[in-house]
Amino acid sequence: MINHSGVPSPFQSFLNDLHFKYKSLHDGAVANYIPELAKVDPNLFSICVITVDGQVYEVGDYNQLFTIQSISKVFVHGLALKDHGRDYVLTKVGVEPTGDAFNAIILDERSNRPLNPMVNAGAIATTSLIKGSRPTERLNRMLNMFQRYIGRDIFVDISVFMSERTTGHRNRAMAHLMLNFGMIDEKIDEALDLYFQQCSLMVNCRDLALMAATLANKGTNPITGEQAVESCYIKDILSMMYTCGMYNFAGEWAYKIGLPAKSGVCGGIIAVVRNQIGIGVFSPLLDSLGDSVRGVKVCEELSQQFGLHLFDSSMGSCRFLDMLST
Ligand code: GLN
Repeated sequence: MINHSGVPSPFQSFLNDLHFKYKSLHDGAVANYIPELAKVDPNLFSICVITVDGQVYEVGDYNQLFTIQSISKVFVHGLALKDHGRDYVLTKVGVEPTGDAFNAIILDERSNRPLNPMVNAGAIATTSLIKGSRPTERLNRMLNMFQRYIGRDIFVDISVFMSERTTGHRNRAMAHLMLNFGMIDEKIDEALDLYFQQCSLMVNCRDLALMAATLANKGTNPITGEQAVESCYIKDILSMMYTCGMYNFAGEWAYKIGLPAKSGVCGGIIAVVRNQIGIGVFSPLLDSLGDSVRGVKVCEELSQQFGLHLFDSSMGSCRFLDMLST
């Protein structure tokens, strides 16, 4: 954000410096399980912060489009909650973090449910709950939901979708296992297609920040004023992000950074500071767990610098949002 005299605001300068600092960090590797993701430019890097009153701070390649991948799981879980309510969704997918990889073929031994909606099995289960009489109706309902979060039209990248679909054997195995236990209904190919489509939605870093800011703003998009998700489900969504959103780095993330967050193998991370800001970071170089290396560093530094950790009491009653406007 630049003021009238063309000088960046103090927070914009901070973001510019943060971007400059980590641009030279080249640790990690881009996802390569499908050729479309392996082709991405590893140097791409952007940070965007949007406040609940609609101020936008951004730096780097923030208009660059990429596929949303696992970050979609957060929002589809929200739609499943809207479609069926909390109690029913809980019969189909649990709320326990797992120490296993996001694509592990594991169900809870006692309940036969997938462990949580942030791992692939759980996400396929929540996707299968999206209401609609035909696949196109379900896809359109999902697209409309994402459009409310980002305030513009959203599209599926067909080549990523086709690759996900033809190589997604583990995801198919999970769907069959869940069908075996009656956790999802028989139309598993339709559910899987919808899951592959949601992973292949094109977003940019600003979209990520706006989605996070919408969650921070009780479900209302701070720029369009449109309600994207019912406020009563925000606590369900944020608690899943907090305990399960960062793959099997979730515990360390909660300890060090202390914010509800979600990452995807695209290299995106969203993080939510409730009632204050949404953060989006995009950098496709991933660590061994699948989290963006620069993304984790940026969030860690933002959290430490501004006392954003949920349980940080060092800033007293000082709100980050108030500091921004001074
Ligand atoms: N499309 C990927 C999959 O289902 C999503 C993975 C991710 O971002 N963790 O395997």
